[in-house]
Amino acid sequence: MDFEAYLAPYAATSSHSRGRRYAEPASTSRTEFQRDRDRIVHCGAFRRLEYKTQVFVNHEGDLFRTRLTHSIEVAQIARSIARNLGLNEDLVEAISLAHDLGHTPFGHAGQDALHVCMKEYGGFEHNLQSLRVVDMLEQRYGGFDGLNLMFETREGILKHCTAAHAAELGDIGKRFLEKKQPTLEAQLANLADEIAYNNHDIDDGLRSGLLTVEQLETIDFFARHKREAEAAFPGIGGRRAINETVRRMINALIIDLIDTSRERIRASGVQTVEEVRIAGPLIAFSDSMRSEALLLKRFLRKNLYQHYQVNRMTSKARRVVTELFHIFMEEPALLPPSYQTARDAGIDDTQHTAVQARSVSDYIAGMTDRYAMREHRRLFAIEET
Ligand code: MG
Repeated sequence: MDFEAYLAPYAATSSHSRGRRYAEPASTSRTEFQRDRDRIVHCGAFRRLEYKTQVFVNHEGDLFRTRLTHSIEVAQIARSIARNLGLNEDLVEAISLAHDLGHTPFGHAGQDALHVCMKEYGGFEHNLQSLRVVDMLEQRYGGFDGLNLMFETREGILKHCTAAHAAELGDIGKRFLEKKQPTLEAQLANLADEIAYNNHDIDDGLRSGLLTVEQLETIDFFARHKREAEAAFPGIGGRRAINETVRRMINALIIDLIDTSRERIRASGVQTVEEVRIAGPLIAFSDSMRSEALLLKRFLRKNLYQHYQVNRMTSKARRVVTELFHIFMEEPALLPPSYQTARDAGIDDTQHTAVQARSVSDYIAGMTDRYAMREHRRLFAIEET
């Protein structure tokens, strides 16, 4: 049965894929990208997303997004756009569900802190770490490390990358050096991520009380859709009004992305994935929607991500991650044995320190928020065991 027969000619397909790093017999019941999605859902790093911060730390409230629910929302948005454009839904879902696997505990605060700690050892970057998780760190299969995902899934996970890192990555880094595009599915997952977090951060910001409706009404995009919601349901208020506003905003962004991308794909004349790679970015918002989304982003940065109460958590997170990193580097014997690195023959002290640092970074990056806090207490609070 050809599960991919409905796809547009420019969609990525299992049969035209660049394949897996380790050859495996094809599945008779699933496409290769369904199989990737399933491997991601079953891996340990995916389950840990449940206890990793998006903006609000997990223990701050039960209704806030976590990295897990964020990833599920990204997949939902990406799939519905993919179906409209004839793109590969399974691939777009696999990329969406995996895109944040490499995130540290405590969101961006954790990542920034780990990057500073890792500066002299090549730095830390969450996209690169997501790829490291699926390529190496997950240990589930007899024949290989990692999940042995398809090239196009891995490429979608690596959405940004510095030229220096790209040069070390071989095949998968090449497009950054050649300035080529990834598949349309990868371009789509990237923008679905943006639609998801802009909207759910508004929702969570309001729920937390850190943002107010009055503040948000200074943003025309929000105010317009709120007026629409109130016109459809006169007298509506409270959470219902917010929900009706946010769903209209998400819908407007999705419709704009579908219409603009469809037109760009048509105008470009691309007929294959190879042509997609050498065309410019084809999945895009219209110019006017792009500027509205930008205003929303700026608003969130100023009013939510840099709110003093969020800053307090950010500061604490930075301390936890930094102190964990330094104590493990000073005393590697405190690490669980699987993260202690034996010195290989033929490498000097400096090289061995870099290997140990990467292993500490993998250990910390894999931690959930609450595990990191518990580990910090175990190591620094005298009364803990
Ligand atoms: Mg994300």
